[in-house]
Amino acid sequence: MVQVSPTYDVVIVGAGVGGGAMANRLAKNGAKVLLIERGTRLPREADNWSVKAVFHDKRYATTETWRDRMGAEFRPSTYYYVGGNSKFFGAATLRFRVEDFGPLQHEAGVSPAWPISYAELAPYYDIAEQWMGTHGTAGQDPCEPPRSGPMPHPAIGHEPEIEEIGRRLCEKGLRPFPLPIAVDRHPGGGCIRCGTCDGFACKLGAKNDAEVRLIDPALATGNVDLLLEAKVERIITDMSGKRVESIEVEQKGDRTLIKIGRLIVSSGAVNSAALLLRSANDKHPRGLGNNQSDQLGRNYMAHNNTAMMAVNPLQKNRVVFQKSMCINDFYLANSVAHYPLGNVQGLGKLQGGMLTANMKLMPEWLMSWFAERSVDWWIMSEDLPDPNNRVSIDTDGKIRLSYKPNNMVSHQQLVAHWTSVMRSLGYPIIISQKMDIKVAMHQCGTVRFGSDPATSVLDSHCRVWDIDNLYVVDASFMPSSTALNPSLTIVAQAIRTADHMIVQRS
Ligand SMILES: Cc1cc2nc3c(=O)[nH]c(=O)nc-3n(C[C@H](O)[C@H](O)[C@H](O)COP(=O)(O)OP(=O)(O)OC[C@H]3O[C@@H](n4cnc5c(N)ncnc54)[C@H](O)[C@@H]3O)c2cc1C
Ligand code: SF4
Repeated sequence: MVQVSPTYDVVIVGAGVGGGAMANRLAKNGAKVLLIERGTRLPREADNWSVKAVFHDKRYATTETWRDRMGAEFRPSTYYYVGGNSKFFGAATLRFRVEDFGPLQHEAGVSPAWPISYAELAPYYDIAEQWMGTHGTAGQDPCEPPRSGPMPHPAIGHEPEIEEIGRRLCEKGLRPFPLPIAVDRHPGGGCIRCGTCDGFACKLGAKNDAEVRLIDPALATGNVDLLLEAKVERIITDMSGKRVESIEVEQKGDRTLIKIGRLIVSSGAVNSAALLLRSANDKHPRGLGNNQSDQLGRNYMAHNNTAMMAVNPLQKNRVVFQKSMCINDFYLANSVAHYPLGNVQGLGKLQGGMLTANMKLMPEWLMSWFAERSVDWWIMSEDLPDPNNRVSIDTDGKIRLSYKPNNMVSHQQLVAHWTSVMRSLGYPIIISQKMDIKVAMHQCGTVRFGSDPATSVLDSHCRVWDIDNLYVVDASFMPSSTALNPSLTIVAQAIRTADHMIVQRS
């Protein structure tokens, strides 16, 4: 095994939004960073926008399989590239609410408080929005948290079909607002507002994903080296168990030991937990950082998500970029229930072929007929942390993801209510599909941060409680999933953690 000498201040495992934001902030402050990514750069090519390639052939998703709690293997819809899952994200970049940071009563239980308040994260949200290039209009979201100023770029606007729905929702007393969205649509930007954004990669490089907005600018500092097709297999601590000494990396069949100054694990909520669990040793028999709390790998969350098509058989929907509207009237206690129900947002325009990818028995002509006449929504509710919903490693080394959805009553209420709203607007046919375990797109919670080492794996700056130089900075740290898209919060917390490390170093 080759040993690489410690020329880097920081080594980061995983080039997603968490790892990308860390690399960016640290490199711009002079740190020498090695960023290790198991995947490659995603090619910009025609297939990026092909329904067949993306949804039927699953050309870009990992071929790796995980097991569910019953032991059945499945292929998760997760992506291993420079930029991670953000290469395929819908670019919705909302801040979590003030209430999300405190204990919040839900129908099925209490969503736990975070160790930091919204006010502590707010300055980092300001930077995160700038970095991600968010477009939006402040002041219209009914439960928007306080902010220091306008969004970096004006809202991208609605197409006529969505504008009209917004007008009619307002007549019903709702307060739809422009969904904050991170695409390069400002003057001189490269976004052409196409119909294949949410769930696809951008062949023009105009989506503001982690590769484009975080990692390439970090590389431009000259302080970051990017190691591709290199999978970190194990983290090795010193004899005391209190410091990471090295990591074992597999690259194209070769194994290398890399010495560590500080290690940041940013491999995504499932893979970060898996790496720490696989790295168990005498001093950490249940996985790294798991001695005190036994929470490592537990509390997996991914949201209760439903995709809904509201169909008016008499009217075609000619919208191209549909993901422009958001409804938060049901986010906290509301007119339908005295507890939170969740968020409704426009979904990227569905096409017949996207639907038949999961409904093999349906003829494509029929699903295309529906899709040409539908307005499509993404309905997202909070799932609560449950220690039995967890990542573990089977004896053959495979990842097991044991997950049972919870807090489903409120999600079903939101789906039922949105169904009635859409019917009242003249969409009599509603087709809804609840997302299953394969859709791990909003995975989070498996290495939770907290203020008590007895109940959390990380401190409030994402450092593993009992290992001095080990941090986990990606969606894993979240103690609750909230009911909003996670990326902006991952970036904000990464910048906060990086700043803390910079202060400690100086
Ligand atoms: C279709 C889709 C739509 C989405 N839409 C939105 C949206 O609109 N808004 C939003 O906020 N979020 C959205 N998301 C979710 C968002 O993309 C993720 O929450 C976010 O990208 C997670 O970032 P991360 O840094 O936690 O992890 P990841 O993106 O998973 O990055 C982890 C990286 O680590 C690498 N890696 C893993 N293990 C190892 C290892 N052992 N060694 C080396 N490298 C490793 C992986 O290849 C990957 O590149 C969407 C996701 C998908 C898939
Ligand atoms: S809408 Fe813009 S950013 Fe999204 S894929 Fe199309 S061109 Fe790229």
